[in-house]
Amino acid sequence: MPGSEQREFRAEVRKVLNILTNSLYTNREIFLRELISNASDALDKLRYRANRGETPRLPDTPLEIRITLNKDARTLTIADTGVGMTPEELADNLGTIAKSGSEEFLAGLSSQEGKDGEPADASNIIGRFGVGFYSVFMVAEKVEVTSRPAFADGDPAAWRWSSDGLGTFTVEECADAEPARGTVIVAHLKEDASEFLEPYRVQSVIRKHSAFVPFPVLVDGERVNTQPALWREPKSSIKPEDYNAFYKHLTYDSADPLDVLHISVDAPVQFNALLYIPATAQDFFGADRDFWGLDLYARRVLIQHRNKDVIPDWLAFLKGVVDTEDLPLNISRETLQENRVLMKISQTITKQMLSHLEKMAADRPDVYARFWKLHSKVFKLSYQDFAQRERVAALMRFNSSRLDDGDALTGLDDYMSRAPEGQKTFWYLSAPNREAARLSPHLERFRKKGIEVLFLYEPVDEFVMEGLGVYKEWNFKAVENAADDALDAFADKEDDAPAATPLSEDDSRTFDELMKRIKEILGDRVADVRVSHRLADSPAVLVSPDGGMTSSMEKLFRAMHKDDSIPVKTLELNRDHPLLRSLLRIFKADPQDKALAGMAELLFEGCLLREGYVKDPQALAGHANALMEQAAAWYTEVRKI
Ligand code: ADP
Ligand code: MG
Repeated sequence: MPGSEQREFRAEVRKVLNILTNSLYTNREIFLRELISNASDALDKLRYRANRGETPRLPDTPLEIRITLNKDARTLTIADTGVGMTPEELADNLGTIAKSGSEEFLAGLSSQEGKDGEPADASNIIGRFGVGFYSVFMVAEKVEVTSRPAFADGDPAAWRWSSDGLGTFTVEECADAEPARGTVIVAHLKEDASEFLEPYRVQSVIRKHSAFVPFPVLVDGERVNTQPALWREPKSSIKPEDYNAFYKHLTYDSADPLDVLHISVDAPVQFNALLYIPATAQDFFGADRDFWGLDLYARRVLIQHRNKDVIPDWLAFLKGVVDTEDLPLNISRETLQENRVLMKISQTITKQMLSHLEKMAADRPDVYARFWKLHSKVFKLSYQDFAQRERVAALMRFNSSRLDDGDALTGLDDYMSRAPEGQKTFWYLSAPNREAARLSPHLERFRKKGIEVLFLYEPVDEFVMEGLGVYKEWNFKAVENAADDALDAFADKEDDAPAATPLSEDDSRTFDELMKRIKEILGDRVADVRVSHRLADSPAVLVSPDGGMTSSMEKLFRAMHKDDSIPVKTLELNRDHPLLRSLLRIFKADPQDKALAGMAELLFEGCLLREGYVKDPQALAGHANALMEQAAAWYTEVRKI
């Protein structure tokens, strides 16, 4: 360890400090929560290593956190008897932050900016990205951290880290200073932070934010926290407020959870678990990527924060605690993976959570709908869990053509109960939103037959459909892959407009010629031109070659491969549409008619547009204008104006 020269904070630490010291934040009191949580972590670490057979110095020292307030010196001091830090650790742990951590923290802070110039609230995100300690500089103008490691060889000296939080810090030896073991932090409070010199104020902050810390917390010698390990208490003795308070302690979420499941299991393994469904959305595909798992305890001793072996990834939205009697206290974190006890816990939690959700869906559909809105992105990944497929399929929810609005949801069982006799397929359609789905030409003949279609708005949904494969002997199919005769067994809805008069045999043959001509006009841009059996109201549609991917899947793959070319598809024409009937008449008069070519172009471009492929909007607008120019001229002639 180098001497006691001044050292610079790394750039990312300076940025975080600069913001915390200079910006006004509400909820500055949470600095106490952060210091207490670090002290508690240090005590947890000591207990964990002691259980594994290491002997700390002064083994009889109680595990506790002592806070003392000194009005004359204007200091708040917090001392713990935990693992402590070596001088190297002081410099590393309190002088650096993982770079990604500081970036995510700063990004998070700016998204929490107060409205209308109100001070921002940092309390939800501080402590999340390894920046908790620095929050002390919201209230302190100078901080000294003196530490003596618990597991060093021989008789280690104490070392002191100190800083005013501006740009530099020092680490120096002060061999005989307190503590005898662990860490003492002295915060010299700023002018405007005198409230934290008042015992009643500090006690109330601790009761609010640190009530469940599993070690005694004392203020000026008096014990403040008295909450037991909630998950070990009998359910009948726990009030909803207690559950909510523990949730907030665990997550720093300011909102109450949506729901809680408290379980106590004796076989095949003994464990207690407290599982919360947050009422707040999480971003597991972004900032919250690694921020999941349950806190794992063995006989009330914390083994690991956010253990990811006790729940499957599709339950990642759960927050909570698992405590088991069946793990040895001396288990090492490194050997937790593949541990049979954890595997059994995960299986039991999965089953109980599914039962809980099934009950919620049946008895409290409005709460279930909220759950779905918040957490379905993750929950849907359960389609890959082969063992649970039938149960998770029943819990899936989608919007559909039959529902009143884009927010309404249906399950597969309800869909089945509404389907006409003989239907054995869940029909679905992918689209960016309900408006786009309802305009899809592929939907037209389903509408005509009154057959409900599930609307899928997220890319993962199609994978879910393919992954589920079959549910209660029904299969899943995209409407655009429906065979020509797929709906023949179902009668048209009666209120439908009368069908167009069929083409005569002669005209049918001429229509085939017209299709050849259109193929000639469009050339390689279409694979083929043929008669459509799927359209009711639209003149034309582009379809993928039979059995191919759906267009949304295809788009996903093209995006993945950065391929922005336009796929070559088959153009299907609606023979009964007035536009095609007119084109047929023009064609009969003159197969080489110039206007016909222009209209065929525009018809094709309109189809591309609907599919979401527009590469050249200039050309499209040009063609539309040219045609309109002609139409307007004819119109004035016809109307004689
Ligand atoms: P986090 O707690 O998320 O790691 P913090 O900024 O709160 O981030 O703390 C940084 C690190 O400093 C901790 O991980 C720990 O290694 C060390 N540390 C802070 N306070 C203490 C303490 N009281 N005893 C021992 N180590 C501590
Ligand atoms: Mg911390």
